[in-house]
Amino acid sequence: MSHRLDDVAAYHDREMSPEQNAEFEAHLSTCAECQTDLRAARAALGSYDAVVSARPAPFDADAAMARLRQGQAQARRARLRRRVVWAGSIGLAAAAAVLVAVAMLAGRPAPRPARTQQFAPVRPRAARDGGP
Ligand SMILES: [Zn+2]
Repeated sequence: MSHRLDDVAAYHDREMSPEQNAEFEAHLSTCAECQTDLRAARAALGSYDAVVSARPAPFDADAAMARLRQGQAQARRARLRRRVVWAGSIGLAAAAAVLVAVAMLAGRPAPRPARTQQFAPVRPRAARDGGP
């Protein structure tokens, strides 16, 4: 029998009759090329079978709920941290505004006592214009 990849595939997939199987096994014992192809087919299909037959881990509701609660607690802590930072920032801004106001008031000259305005005496119009 000459080397035939179809025979390797049929042998691998157990599609041969008992006579064909025996004939191919006789050939296989002497053909390095068929042995290599059969090993490659087994490796490739073995990996495929491992992937296909893999089953996900059974669902653990308690563990899922624990992870969910842990995530919620982390989110709560993060929110609280953000609020503290905001409150601190607002407090700092308010303190800075008070300091600026105090500095402005302290730097201002003291208010002068109110002066009475002095106006020139208003003369009647007739006196200015030379009079009638
Ligand atoms: Zn062969």
